Amino acid sequence: MELEKNGVFPIEDTLEIILAFDKTGKITYMNAAARKKLEYEEGFSGKCIQDIFPNTFRSAQEGFETDCPFGNALQNLVAYRKNLTCFPVEARIVDHTETSGLYICMANDILEKEFLTKEIEQVRQEAQQAMKVKSEFVANVTHELRTPVNGILGNVRELLGEELETKVERYLRLIERCCGDMNKIINNILDFSKLEAGKFTLEPRKFNFRSMLDYVKSNHINKITEKGLGFFMTVSPQIPEYIIGDELRIVQVLGNLISNAQKFTSVGKITVEAVRTARVNDKIELFFMVKDTGIGIDAADKDKLFQSFSQVDASISRKYGGTGLGLNICKQLVELMGGRIEVESEKNRGSTFSFSVWVGISENEEEVLCEQTDYIEMPAGDVEDSSAEDIRQFGTPENLKNLKNNLSKLILCVEMENWEKAEMFMETVRTLTSGAPREIGRIALRLKMAIQKENYDKITTEFAELNNLLGT
Ligand code: ADP
Repeated sequence: MELEKNGVFPIEDTLEIILAFDKTGKITYMNAAARKKLEYEEGFSGKCIQDIFPNTFRSAQEGFETDCPFGNALQNLVAYRKNLTCFPVEARIVDHTETSGLYICMANDILEKEFLTKEIEQVRQEAQQAMKVKSEFVANVTHELRTPVNGILGNVRELLGEELETKVERYLRLIERCCGDMNKIINNILDFSKLEAGKFTLEPRKFNFRSMLDYVKSNHINKITEKGLGFFMTVSPQIPEYIIGDELRIVQVLGNLISNAQKFTSVGKITVEAVRTARVNDKIELFFMVKDTGIGIDAADKDKLFQSFSQVDASISRKYGGTGLGLNICKQLVELMGGRIEVESEKNRGSTFSFSVWVGISENEEEVLCEQTDYIEMPAGDVEDSSAEDIRQFGTPENLKNLKNNLSKLILCVEMENWEKAEMFMETVRTLTSGAPREIGRIALRLKMAIQKENYDKITTEFAELNNLLGT
């Protein structure tokens, strides 16, 4: 074994005591920990292994003799300091005489190790306790926040039931949406703190699988079609009509993945697929896929996705919002339901999130499979015959058709002073013109800035110019 490289021992600074001795027992090396703990800081010349472990090594004609086995097994020995006081160690003595002519002894002070283990345990317990207090605090605060938010929401809805000026109604709708968003965040934090504290319990019951999917679809279809995206849903006939599981939580996971797909996709389509993959007694495994043609995720960022509070990059988060808790909650929920969640993605081409869960089938229902063959939702946008790539490619007929479509929606939103939606369509226009000649890109940027400033006159000028150059 080559102990020394360029005159420096790589083991010099380890916490473990390390010594080397030759066939005669003479110590040829002590690392810093050994010199300190054995009190040989002023030198160990002339010392031999019998001085350190006199109970284990005895002097003999051929250097030393010992009953201590060499190898990686740990031995309890007593180490003596220079001043002849001693302490117990756990040591391994390895025979490297064939290669380097040396024996290497690696030892740990048992008392110190026990002390450290106790200290680590104490720190661990304190950290756990602090975590528990923090989780409880977060749970309490979020719970308390719910009451005022729902109070505002209730009153706003009450007002919306009355006859109102358009402008007032618009502000109230905005407040209503903000409260809805806040409720979503509060629910996410509550779920997260319950999951972290191990206090989350599933509530399985019998439910109609296809009605659940219809509900999921109805929750998202408007936002998806408003963006001009296609939405397809396919369900395998192998999934029985009724299953037993936590419907709310399956809806939550699917909903989260579909919301993300919609959030991060500006052209193309979103596809949801559900199939049955296995059966063991009265349990079946369901496998879901949510596929989009959106911005995609870098391979290097994939591991970060399912961690709590993690968003792929700060600029993306600012643009799209979110707390970075959604996928972590999905992962924990899916694992509670006996499954796994995974992602496959390619930057700028789209992502496929898939997850499995185990659910029950009731005895009399077990063979009542759905009679329908796969049922497919027709696309909401005009993407059926064209791929997302054709749409993104500036200048293709699909691209120009989509551009025209998005620009007319954009100007409609401007007329209605719905600035948030106008910005959303503007983003899609920017994606669709990303490969366009520079002049078009410049006008698109100016139009975007005018929308951000809500400058109506400038918007109409830039809009007309863009339409003119695009020939739309
Ligand atoms: P958030 O609530 O912030 O969206 P999530 O945990 O749901 O939190 O998602 C974390 C991050 O993963 C997102 O901020 C985004 O960067 C990335 N991500 C999630 N879904 C997609 C998707 N379909 N396409 C591209 N990126 C995605």
